[in-house]
Amino acid sequence: MCGVFGVWGVPEASRITYLGLHGLQHRGQESAGIVTARGDQLYSFKRMGRVADVFNESALDALPGTVAIGHVRYSTQGMSIVKNAQPFAVEFAGTSLAIAHNGNLTNAGELRAELEAAGSLFHTTMDTEVFVHLLARAKGTLVDRLQKVLPRVRGAYSLLILTPDQMVAVRDPHGFRPLIVGRAPSGGPVFASESSALRLVEAVAEREVEPGEIVRVDADGETSHRVGASLPQPHQCIFEHIYFARPDSQIFGARVYEVRKAIGRRLAREEPVADADVVIPVPDSGTAAALGYAQEAGVPYEMGLIRSHYAGRTFIEPSSSIRHFGVKLKLSPVEHVIRDRVVVVVDDSIVRGTTSRKIVRMLREAGAKAVHMRIACPPTKNSCFYGIDTPTTAELIASTHSVDAIADFLDADSLAYLSIDGLHDSVTGRPGFCDACFTGNYPVPVPQVRFEGRLTERD
Ligand code: SF4
Repeated sequence: MCGVFGVWGVPEASRITYLGLHGLQHRGQESAGIVTARGDQLYSFKRMGRVADVFNESALDALPGTVAIGHVRYSTQGMSIVKNAQPFAVEFAGTSLAIAHNGNLTNAGELRAELEAAGSLFHTTMDTEVFVHLLARAKGTLVDRLQKVLPRVRGAYSLLILTPDQMVAVRDPHGFRPLIVGRAPSGGPVFASESSALRLVEAVAEREVEPGEIVRVDADGETSHRVGASLPQPHQCIFEHIYFARPDSQIFGARVYEVRKAIGRRLAREEPVADADVVIPVPDSGTAAALGYAQEAGVPYEMGLIRSHYAGRTFIEPSSSIRHFGVKLKLSPVEHVIRDRVVVVVDDSIVRGTTSRKIVRMLREAGAKAVHMRIACPPTKNSCFYGIDTPTTAELIASTHSVDAIADFLDADSLAYLSIDGLHDSVTGRPGFCDACFTGNYPVPVPQVRFEGRLTERD
C-alpha cells in the first residue's frame, strides 16, 4: 500500500511531485518523501506523516532540479519509522541512487539472508533495500543490472529509480500494482501509480508501464526494455478495483468508478433484497458500488452514513467508555434517512468483521427497521503477500466462518457477497487478475500460513 510518482524535465520538479503525491495520498499516509536530481547530486527530504504535513516551502526549496521521484508509504514490510520512509537514497557504484517501491517481495527474507551472509550491511528493515544490494553486486549499466537481478526477485514491485542522470520505471512481470506514464505540459514524462495524480499536475496519461517492462529516461529520451521473459498473462491486483485505487483513476485499462458501479449492478442481480426502502453506501470505498446496486434494483440511493475526513489515525479516547468510539469518529448516521426503513448497506469488503458489526449497530440505533449488508467482493479468506496490508488469515473472519455465521456476528438481517464470477465479469480492461485473497490461488509462492479460527473484537 504505497504510491510512487516521478517527473523528468519539468520546472519546479519538487513542487510538481508534491502535488502528484497529494493525488496518491490514499495509497499511504504513514510517511512521504521526495528526491530530486541536479548536476551530479541527489537531494532528499522525507518525514513521517501526510504529504501536507511533511513538506513546507523551505523543504521544497531545498529540493532543486527538474527531475524528481516521490513516495507515500503505508507499511506492509518493515516498521513504520522514518528510517524506512522512501525514496530510499544511497551512494551507489561511485554515484547516488534513490528508489521508490510500491509492492511487496515474497522472497525478500531469503535474498536478504543470502546478501548478509555475503557481507551486505542493511540499513533498514524494508524489503526495498534488497533491490539496492542486488544492484550494487551486479555489473554494467543500471538497465543491465536490473535485467540481471530482477529475475531473482519474486513478488510485487512497481519501482521508480533515480540517479543524477537517469530515471527508470519498472513493473514486475505479473503487473500486480499499477504504474502509468503520462506527459507533462512541458513535454517531459510523468510516472504515477494512478492517473488521479497525473490529472492534478495537468499531465496527460499515455499508457501503462507494461508488466515486466523497464522504461529508462535520460537527456536523450526514453527507451523500453524487458525484465525477462513475458508471462502469458499478468496478475493485476483485482482488489485495487474494489477498494484501493481512487474511483477517479483509470487502472489496468479500466475506469475504477465504472468497474465499481458494474460490481454494484451485478451484486443487485445476484443478491436482491425484496422489500428494500433505501440503499446506502459505507463511504467512501462502497459509494460507487452502492450507486450501481441502487440503480439496478430501482431502489432510492441515499447517503445514510457520513464519513468524517478529519479523523486522524490516532486520537485521545475519553476515560469514561463510549461504546464504539472509534467508528463513531469516522462514520455518523443520517437518522431521518434510516429511521423506520429497510436498509441495504453496501460495503467494499469485510476484513475482521468488527467495523461492519459496529456499522450495523449504528444503523439499528438510528432506527433502521432492518439492515441487509451487501459486499462488493467475495469473502476475503486469505492474506495478501503482494503489497496490500491485510491481517493474518486467522484474523480474516471469512477464513473461519460461514456467511451465515458472519451475518450472526454482525447482527445483520441478511448478509451476501458478490460471487467470484460476478467480480471477474464486472472488471473490464486488460485481462489477467490476481484474486488470491478470495480464492487462495496465489500466482507467486507465498509463505505457509498456519492459523486458528477466532473472532476478534479488535478493529
Ligand atoms: S491477494 Fe488480493 S489484495 Fe493481494 S494482490 Fe492478489 S488480489 Fe490483490
